[in-house]
Amino acid sequence: MTKQTLSFQAEVKQILHLVTHSLYSNKEIFLRELISNASDACDKLRFEALNRPELYEDAPNLEVRISFDAEAKTLTIRDNGIGLSADEAVANLGTIAKSGTREFMAKLDGDQKKDAQLIGQFGVGFYSGFIVADRITVESRRAGTEPGEGVRWSSEGTGDFEIETIERTERGTDVILHLRDGEDEFLSGWKLKSIISKYSDHVSLPILMRKEEWDAEAAKQVTRDEWVPVNKAAALWTRSKSDITEEQYSEFYKQISYDTEAPLAYTHNRVEGRSDYTQLLYIPAKAPFDLWNRDKRGGVKLYVKRVFIMDDAEALMPVYLRFVKGVIDSADLPLNVSRELLQESRDVRAIREGSTKRVISMLEALANSEDEAERTKYKTFWRDFGPLLKEGVGEDHANVERLSKLLRFASTHADEDVSFADYLGRMKEGQESVYYVTADSLAAAKGSPQLEIYRKKGVEVLLLTDRVDEWMLSHLHEVEGKPLQSVAKGVVDLGALQDEEEKRQAEQAADAFKPVLERLKSSLKDRAKDVRVTTRLVDSPACLVVEDGDMSGHLARLLKQSGQTGLPSSLPTLEINVQHTLVSSLEQSPHFDDLAQILFDQAVLAEGGQLEDPAGYVKRVNRLLTPA
Ligand code: ADP
Repeated sequence: MTKQTLSFQAEVKQILHLVTHSLYSNKEIFLRELISNASDACDKLRFEALNRPELYEDAPNLEVRISFDAEAKTLTIRDNGIGLSADEAVANLGTIAKSGTREFMAKLDGDQKKDAQLIGQFGVGFYSGFIVADRITVESRRAGTEPGEGVRWSSEGTGDFEIETIERTERGTDVILHLRDGEDEFLSGWKLKSIISKYSDHVSLPILMRKEEWDAEAAKQVTRDEWVPVNKAAALWTRSKSDITEEQYSEFYKQISYDTEAPLAYTHNRVEGRSDYTQLLYIPAKAPFDLWNRDKRGGVKLYVKRVFIMDDAEALMPVYLRFVKGVIDSADLPLNVSRELLQESRDVRAIREGSTKRVISMLEALANSEDEAERTKYKTFWRDFGPLLKEGVGEDHANVERLSKLLRFASTHADEDVSFADYLGRMKEGQESVYYVTADSLAAAKGSPQLEIYRKKGVEVLLLTDRVDEWMLSHLHEVEGKPLQSVAKGVVDLGALQDEEEKRQAEQAADAFKPVLERLKSSLKDRAKDVRVTTRLVDSPACLVVEDGDMSGHLARLLKQSGQTGLPSSLPTLEINVQHTLVSSLEQSPHFDDLAQILFDQAVLAEGGQLEDPAGYVKRVNRLLTPA
């Protein structure tokens, strides 16, 4: 292939512009990114060579070499990993084949620290070289190809790049940065070493640089031809806990997660038993923006005897714990383990169960700590990740009980941080159930007419407003033997909370109201399953409830919003408050039918629903408002 000039994909141009402009204050990260790519390339080679040892050619020692040329003002990062073919160079360095780029762009908000953190999550790492270079040349040859199939890719990082075939004997990749004016600080062995030890000490293959030493005769620092390692190259998790500082744990976390903040908590253990493995797991302090995507890559890397096997090994962590970052290094799994095999392996199941329990224990330790600061950490965690634990209640049957103790809610008694234990401790004498209401927002939940009687009696009601709540509730039916009861389902049964007198009055009222109920039922026969008198309401004239086995209005709305069709349709029941003047004067009204429809429509609105015929509603209200 002769030299060709190709244009970057439009999104690459945008990314390039952003990367070079917004990350300048943190420019040294380019080295971490390029070393990380080099290390990935070596991991990939090691993995492919499990089945094709000939890929090693005659250089079995994988390594990264960093060198600079002060005259030419170039800095070169060389690896002898898998390398790139010409097609791969075009595809991987000229396009961003990953979804989510648009989201990434939208998330960049000009806050350089945060923006820097997002780099890498989207595979824009390579482009960070352009922060300090005004031209990058990549020379590469893919392992297993002929020397004549080398490739040179070169670009100034603006509109386009050049690509051509070259002759290259060595397998692997050279990334050559032509430094911009003013970036001479990176032409110093000392400077480069200090960046490497800050960011890349734990990269598990050797990073080599030319030896520099003081030459007494020449009375100056000289560079020898000998290459020496400049990183520790010991995978952090294989070292003993007592040899690792807090700082080192934190730095390692930042490396694997691209987070700029220290983690909230971590756990590091060597587990022996059914399956021998080491786990180093972290809980981030903040949620990444794509957390709610259940297909998102997980954050746990799988190693087997220190050999990197794969990222995002979803078999190692349940989906609801997808926020956990870290490393699991197994001593038993075969090196050539495939994703399919992972799904079936009993060892992996044991690892997954053990790791899940560890993560839950970490959270329990925070939530139940004596230390106020730790408990505050849990609150922060809950705010960002709470709904995931609710997913867990539905997903992880083995741990439901422990998970349910970690749940926190808003309630009619406190806006946040109410646990089931708090709730149970505040239950009224004679209260048999844990009451809750679901709604789209906290305001809607607080305003639910169905709450009124509970408010009046001082009975606490949990206010559930996460989308995942309904799903959780379909799996969690009781806590500590107390049933969970929706205040919008079934007939109100406050049991011992209601006195005999109240019950008698309600029955009497219902009797006296029979004829009106019959008329209402017939007016609303297409909309309501039943109409009945309730003690649920205090200030509102009416509300909707569903029967115990039926789908709540809130859930039906959620499912509809998410595009589900063919939902089982069951009509709600309209409950009316005979103490309310609107209801008690209904019988005499000449507008009985309009009022019946309006009562129903208002009940729909009050629970955050949408009217099927808003224009009809407006017409009816206007008829009533118009003086006769
Ligand atoms: P990421 O590493 O997150 O995928 P990058 O922009 O850093 O994103 O790199 C894009 C792609 O270019 C990589 O996925 C890889 O396929 C390829 N690449 C980058 N550096 C190297 C290298 N040193 N050796 C082989 N391939 C590389």
